[in-house]
Amino acid sequence: MKKVSILLILFLESIINLNSKYYLLKIFLEQENDYQKLLSLNLDMESATYGKSEITIIVNEYEKEMIAENGFKFEPLIEDYEKHLEMKIKENVDKFKEDNLQAFEYGSMGGFYTLEEIYQQFNKLSNNPYFVEKQEIGYSWEKNPIIAYCFGSRDNNKPEVLITALHHSREPATVTTIVYFLQNLLEKAKNGDDEAVYLLENRRIWIIPVLNPDGYLYNQKSYPNGGGLWRKNRRPISQTDTGVDLNRNYGPYEFWNANNNGSSTNPKNETYRGPAPFSEPEITALRNFCFKRNFRLALNFHTYGGMLIYPYSALPFETPDSIWYRSFGAYLQPITSYYFGTDVQTVGYPTRGSSDDWFYTPDSTKGKILAFSPEASFQFDGFWPKKERILPIAKENYPLILNFLWSVEANIRLWDYFYNFDTTRKIGFLQLEFANIGLENSTNSTQVRIYSNSSDYSLDTIFELPPLQSAERFYKSIQLPIPNETFKNGSEIEFTVSVIHNNLVRKDTIKLTLYEYQIVDLKDSTLWDFSLGKWGYEILNDSNYILLCDSPYYNYKDSLDNYLVFRAPYRLGANNFELELTSRWAIEPFYDYAKVEISTNNGRDWTPLRFKRSTIASGNQYGKQKLGEFGFAGYIRFWNTQTLSLKEFLWKEILLRLSVLSDRAKNSAGWDIKDIKLRKFPNISFQNYVSTPKPINKLFLFSQGKFLQSIELTENIQIYELAIWDILGRKVFTQNYPEPNSTIYLQGITDGVYFLRLSTNEGYKNFKILVK
Ligand SMILES: [Zn+2]
Repeated sequence: MKKVSILLILFLESIINLNSKYYLLKIFLEQENDYQKLLSLNLDMESATYGKSEITIIVNEYEKEMIAENGFKFEPLIEDYEKHLEMKIKENVDKFKEDNLQAFEYGSMGGFYTLEEIYQQFNKLSNNPYFVEKQEIGYSWEKNPIIAYCFGSRDNNKPEVLITALHHSREPATVTTIVYFLQNLLEKAKNGDDEAVYLLENRRIWIIPVLNPDGYLYNQKSYPNGGGLWRKNRRPISQTDTGVDLNRNYGPYEFWNANNNGSSTNPKNETYRGPAPFSEPEITALRNFCFKRNFRLALNFHTYGGMLIYPYSALPFETPDSIWYRSFGAYLQPITSYYFGTDVQTVGYPTRGSSDDWFYTPDSTKGKILAFSPEASFQFDGFWPKKERILPIAKENYPLILNFLWSVEANIRLWDYFYNFDTTRKIGFLQLEFANIGLENSTNSTQVRIYSNSSDYSLDTIFELPPLQSAERFYKSIQLPIPNETFKNGSEIEFTVSVIHNNLVRKDTIKLTLYEYQIVDLKDSTLWDFSLGKWGYEILNDSNYILLCDSPYYNYKDSLDNYLVFRAPYRLGANNFELELTSRWAIEPFYDYAKVEISTNNGRDWTPLRFKRSTIASGNQYGKQKLGEFGFAGYIRFWNTQTLSLKEFLWKEILLRLSVLSDRAKNSAGWDIKDIKLRKFPNISFQNYVSTPKPINKLFLFSQGKFLQSIELTENIQIYELAIWDILGRKVFTQNYPEPNSTIYLQGITDGVYFLRLSTNEGYKNFKILVK
């Protein structure tokens, strides 16, 4: 009898602990539909990496059984993943050397904060003139308070934004990132930084650092030094089952219950959605809080993967605000290296009942809140990044949070730029593109000032941008003056670009290699050896433009290393060189990769070049993105020009290689190259250059197919904009940077008297014109 009861206790014990152990499993996919079948088990695919015919994933005990029952073959790579992480964390912490210059306070869980430490940090931050208030917005299942802090303005009419962390309790880097941001913003404001002061005086920044305190405490108790992998809340369900995935518990009902397998109905699963939408006190607390506030924007932080995810999740398409979402994501992509898109476009599978869909969907109690979920940090970081990664992760998210705060109103940013030399007229141009990545239209104009930070080159010019609607972009071309006599052609010059909007100055620095260059066109077919792969040419639809493509007219193939290599080495010599690349791509994120590589030893070793829009390789063991390399991936479907200095390869004989490397699954259009060129900067004397006589600049005006009149100007005048105004003072036509000696076709202009106004570096010049 006694023996039996001991056995019974042991048996119960093992049931109770059934889903408290995590495995790293390698699951083999053997049949055609195995992947779909695996998806239908509703595992947390956030942790999955995909191989040729296998998937590696973190699962709990129950999920492991379920995988076995469904006939999958699998192999546990790590038997107790939490223990494994705990050990790894200890090793890393022992090795960690603190940077004394950094004031950031680490926590005691492998550098991350315990729950108590999080609130200690927030109490410290609250000791600040910009701290507004602290509210308990509700309680968790275990009666732990859910706390919201407000920083910024006390004026209730200022725009309100929301930042949350720890929907999922195994994502501690979300909180260190937010603490770092706030600390720095408040510190900058204290030191009088205009931007920080402006944001704090004109925003109400609400932060919920711990949405899931029970899960967080559970991890903290089980693994006090870090490594706990509990994801859900701690709703008691049965003797064997605990917890709901808080990021699958949102309504509305149609989303929560969408027909896309995006959450689990089984309480044993990591993605269990709960018995009903908003069944969980943590999520109802957040919902009720949103009802009382007036949020326009929300940022729900998760880790990991390096993504910025936006709605929809439950529906298989983007929202009507996708243009704005994409403009925000594309602006940040070169800064953070994060992929952006809906969850199908980024993580590759749909979800349902997730936060952002609910935030986005207006109902009778709240308006539309544009929400994002960053998956901060990279795949190689995992849920418990090394201690030395805590600050880099926080820093890479600083501009993301900063622009998020800005974007609740108009947010005019320098979106892209490149330098161009006109060989026929011997003039350099700076092509600038500005964008309003904010939610609001700008109602007044923006001033832009560009000046050189170098004594070798003088430039200081101011121009105006018109009011820009939300997500609208504006191109501007500036003629760059002839360099000083002391200037060495091919030098890199740093410029400051100040964007002045609403009397607030925000600065970016850009570097350009100036001035005169010759072009070596690398699109030329004789330069390349096409026999090694599938590369070829394709004619762009509706134009005569010929593209160099990895897979002309088709998607790229599975499991292919597709190379295009120089036939013969090219000697760079003493001149400065730059590589110019105009392209677009659709390449599976995390797994496939498009690279420009260079070799200086005749193809024995290849180094991938890092461009502005290169991503950081995922290092995913199954994919083609090797750790430490750079390349293009994700879906950048707009043409973009990137330039790269080759000065470290001077005097070398180089080979270039274009590669698109693909794994087994998922292929798309690939890489389209519109232009690829070498810019060669010869030695020239700018003394002679300056004295070259210049012709008169004539603009020829045409309307309705007829020549109207010409306008004569001195050649050295810089024209920023040509605008036509009607007699009622309405602007009816504009052209930015009319080329000198060009023909202007005035479109959509009816007969009558008009005023033509040129905005130039010498002020406005007005002309009267008659259209008849
Ligand atoms: Zn998460």
